[in-house]
Amino acid sequence: MVSDEYGFFIDPQRCIGCRACVGACAECGTHKGRPMIHLDEMDRMESPQTVPTVCMHCEDPICAQVCPADAIKRTDDGVVHSSQKPRCIGCENCELSCPFGVPIVFSGMEQMLKCDLCYDRTSEGLKPMCATVCPSQALLYVPKHQVAEMRRSKPVREFLVGTLKVKTRTAVMVPDSEIPLHLDAALLIEGGF
Ligand code: SF4
Ligand code: SF4
Repeated sequence: MVSDEYGFFIDPQRCIGCRACVGACAECGTHKGRPMIHLDEMDRMESPQTVPTVCMHCEDPICAQVCPADAIKRTDDGVVHSSQKPRCIGCENCELSCPFGVPIVFSGMEQMLKCDLCYDRTSEGLKPMCATVCPSQALLYVPKHQVAEMRRSKPVREFLVGTLKVKTRTAVMVPDSEIPLHLDAALLIEGGF
């Protein structure tokens, strides 16, 4: 069980693109050399800005809703897990439906794997690997009440995807001056942020 006291915070403004998170994630034995974190370049011609993407652990995960094999489980601590191997049929519904582009169905194994908040670590009170190695603390795993003391930006856990409101366990830090009621993930994908 992961403590509800702790939260995972993504702070894209602090990301320096070093890829330490990707390397650390790939070392985890549970997914055997495959990183579950994605590091995206926003617009390489215009900016060096990079953005790490991990599972947002949605309260009502769309990936699980569209899974015809009931292979994706959310535990009571709010963590949405990788697909269960005996159930997953590799149909890619989850990959296509996730508003944040997180799940990947790996060819060869025909199974969806994704970030599970390093459940083997966080359920034992340890930080996820990526948050352990991130040198700029763009990936932060701390007691929720500490964030206000550590950052001027604010955590956002509600996103608009078209007209659909998605609430998440993981938060994205947004500058005070730009805080929206919701981030519109569709606008982000179109580069209109
Ligand atoms: S972010 Fe995507 S993969 Fe993660 S729980 Fe939400 S819908 Fe599922
Ligand atoms: S690929 Fe697997 S986990 Fe994803 S929707 Fe299909 S059966 Fe479910």
